[in-house]
Amino acid sequence: MSKVKDSFFANTELIGLIGHPIKHSYSPFIQNYALELMNLDYVYLPFDVPTENLKNAVKAVLALGLKGLNVTLPHKEKIIKFLDELSEEASIIGAVNTIVNDHGKLMGYNTDANGILETLLPYKDKISGTKMTVIGAGGSARAVIFTLLRHFKPEEINIINRTQQKADSLANDFALKMRFDSLHTFELFPPDNVETLSNSRLIVNATTMGMFPDVEDTITDIDESFNEDQIVFDLIYNPTKTKFLKTADAQGAKVVGGLKMLISQAAKSFELWTGVEMPTTEISEKLERSILKISSL
Ligand code: NAP
Repeated sequence: MSKVKDSFFANTELIGLIGHPIKHSYSPFIQNYALELMNLDYVYLPFDVPTENLKNAVKAVLALGLKGLNVTLPHKEKIIKFLDELSEEASIIGAVNTIVNDHGKLMGYNTDANGILETLLPYKDKISGTKMTVIGAGGSARAVIFTLLRHFKPEEINIINRTQQKADSLANDFALKMRFDSLHTFELFPPDNVETLSNSRLIVNATTMGMFPDVEDTITDIDESFNEDQIVFDLIYNPTKTKFLKTADAQGAKVVGGLKMLISQAAKSFELWTGVEMPTTEISEKLERSILKISSL
């Protein structure tokens, strides 16, 4: 926030974000704008914490009495060992993006799963019980697979990843934790992936390919991978419509960008810290305008 608040008294609560690097994060904007709109006496600050300082940063939450933290790359998995308790989602996914300091007890949550659920719920009837493909095998791919298994009863899930070994280990992990055997893995090689993609009702890109500033990168630009029966969801929110989504859109697929997920995961974290619902519509409109401005620079 550029202006100085006139309400910083001794009881102002502090929330933060830790990651490395974090200077491009939209979370401080979203959270501080929401706190201002709801007139809550909190501030949300970004802290650039390299991995060697992670343990001390968690100790500081307790020592300084922070209300909580968002956790982003590369700490979402490594932070778990420093926490007291995990939500069921965070434990199955194996990643935490939100910490709540509950009177000295550090609780870990994964609100990305909530963001994915909110984004896909409008398509529930269309995708439930069908074949689905997730591209990527990192932290957010894990949150996607958890959400699909928990809420959308997939017939099968295909996992496509640049490093197939990581997809294999993710598939084994979920087969064990969520007792689901119809997980198939593939190496990312677009000409070989056409059939897998075109046979899927839902396709999710959970990789970093196509993210600003590398907006010309794409997982695939092969038209035959897509069709008009599909929902294609890209977790990337900058740009709001990736090259991958543009290709799918041109083939008549229903395409969905990552902005709703970004706001929904932030809203869930906000609620965990403050107990107040985030005014998402107003924030979403302002954020979209600011992302469009940044992307066109
Ligand atoms: P991550 O754990 O680092 O995983 C990155 C994934 O991208 C891996 O599967 C990696 O493949 C793949 N990848 C990276 N570079 C690639 C390349 N050049 N070609 C092909 N594959 C490549 O990251 P993450 O946390 O899962 O995040 C993934 C994406 O989700 C990011 O774009 C992030 O911005 C987005 N996201 C969005 C939201 C939201 O609220 N909308 C929330 C969280 C994340 P390898 O396994 O082979 O390395």
